[in-house]
Amino acid sequence: MAEPARQGFAAFNLAPPVLRALKVLGFEEPTPIQARSLAPILQGRDLIGQAHTGSGKTAAYGIPLVQRLRHRGAVQALVIVPTRELAIQVTQSIQALAQFTDLKLLAVYGGYDMSLQTAALRAGVDLVVSTPGRLIDHVWQGTIELDQVHVVVLDEADEMLSMGFIDDVERILSWLPPGTQKLLFSATLPERVRRLASQFLDKPVSIRVADTEETIPDIAQAYSTARGEAKLDLVCRLLKDEAVEQALIFCRTKQRVDRLTRRLRERGIEAEAIHSDLTQARRTAVMKRFRRGAVRVLVATDVASRGIDVRRVTHVINFDCPANPDEYIHRIGRTGRAGRSGSALTFIGPKEHGLLKAIEKRVGRKLERWPEDEDQPSPPPRPRRRRRR
Ligand code: AMP
Repeated sequence: MAEPARQGFAAFNLAPPVLRALKVLGFEEPTPIQARSLAPILQGRDLIGQAHTGSGKTAAYGIPLVQRLRHRGAVQALVIVPTRELAIQVTQSIQALAQFTDLKLLAVYGGYDMSLQTAALRAGVDLVVSTPGRLIDHVWQGTIELDQVHVVVLDEADEMLSMGFIDDVERILSWLPPGTQKLLFSATLPERVRRLASQFLDKPVSIRVADTEETIPDIAQAYSTARGEAKLDLVCRLLKDEAVEQALIFCRTKQRVDRLTRRLRERGIEAEAIHSDLTQARRTAVMKRFRRGAVRVLVATDVASRGIDVRRVTHVINFDCPANPDEYIHRIGRTGRAGRSGSALTFIGPKEHGLLKAIEKRVGRKLERWPEDEDQPSPPPRPRRRRRR
C-alpha cells in the first residue's frame, strides 16, 4: 500500500477550484497531518488532530471547508482560535484556498470596532474565524446566528485552555445545532482538553503527527550561555549576517521586548516589537509588515506571536529561554516551516541547564553549543544537595 503521506492531492477527489488554489500556492504534496486527516474530515467525521504550528494543520481543515461549503451568505462554519493574530492569519490562509470560489470569510476578534464587523456580517458571510469572547458577543447581539452552522474547528485548543477561554469555547459548542461536525486541533492534549473532546465530539478519529515528522529535523538548533553585553553582541553579529532573511526574537516580558528592541536599534539594527500592551491596530500593522518582509527583525513575547506563520523566518532567537519544552517547540515551529530549513538559537541562563536537558529530551537530540561560545567560561557547577529520604 502506498504511504499515505506520499499520495498526492489528486487522491482526495477535490473540486477544480480547490486543486487550482493548491497549485497556485505551490502545495504539491499533502503534509503528514493533511494526508491523514483530509479523508475523515471530508467524510464528515469528528476529529482530534494533534499537530503543531508548521505542520500544515490550517490547510488540513481549510481544504475540506472550502471543498464542502457553498456561498449562501449564512454562517455555516466557525473556526475558533485563541488570538486575534491567529484569527487574521487563519482567515488569510483559508481565503487563499478559497480564492477561486465565491465563499465569503470574515475574521472576528476583540479590540476592533464591533460595528464594522457587524456591517460585514450583514453583507453575508459563510465562514467566520473568531476568538471565543468576540464570537459570544456577536451571538448575544444577534449579529451571528448559529442555526446554519454545520462545522466547527477549534484550533490550538491547548492555547485556548492556557489563556482561560475554555469555558467560553464550551459554551459556544453547547449552542451549536446537533450533528455539527467538530474538529479539534491542539499541539498537546491536557486533561481539560481531553474532557472537552469526550463531552462534545462524536466518535472522533484521532490523529497524532509525531514531532519528527514535522519541522524539527529541518531546524539547526544551538544554544549559548553568553550573558550581558556578550549576549547582545552575539545577537547583533548574527543579525548582521545576510543569511538571516527574517528573525523572530523571543523575550519573557513586554518590558524586555521593548528594552531589547531599543538596544538593537541603538546598534543600527532595524527591529520592531510586538506584545499585548500595543494597540490592536499597531499589532496588526507590525504583523502585516513582518509578513510582507518589510520588517526583518521582530522582537516578541510568546502570547503576541502565538501560532504566527511567517514563511520567511529563517532564524528564531530565544533571547530568554522558553519556560518549558512545549513552549520551545511552539517558538521554533516558526522557522523551517513545511520543509524549509531554519535555525534556532537559545540562550541558557546559569540556572537553566535542567531546562536545556528537558528541551533536548523533548526534541530527541542534543542542542549544539554555539561555536563562538567556547571561550566563555562555563557556568559554575551548582552545589549538590544531599538527597533526603
Ligand atoms: P500551518 O501549520 O497551518 O501554520 O502551516 C504551515 C505552513 O505550511 C504554511 O505556510 C502553509 O502555507 C504551508 N503549507 C501547508 N500545507 C502545505 C503543503 N501541502 N505543501 C506545502 N506547504 C504547505
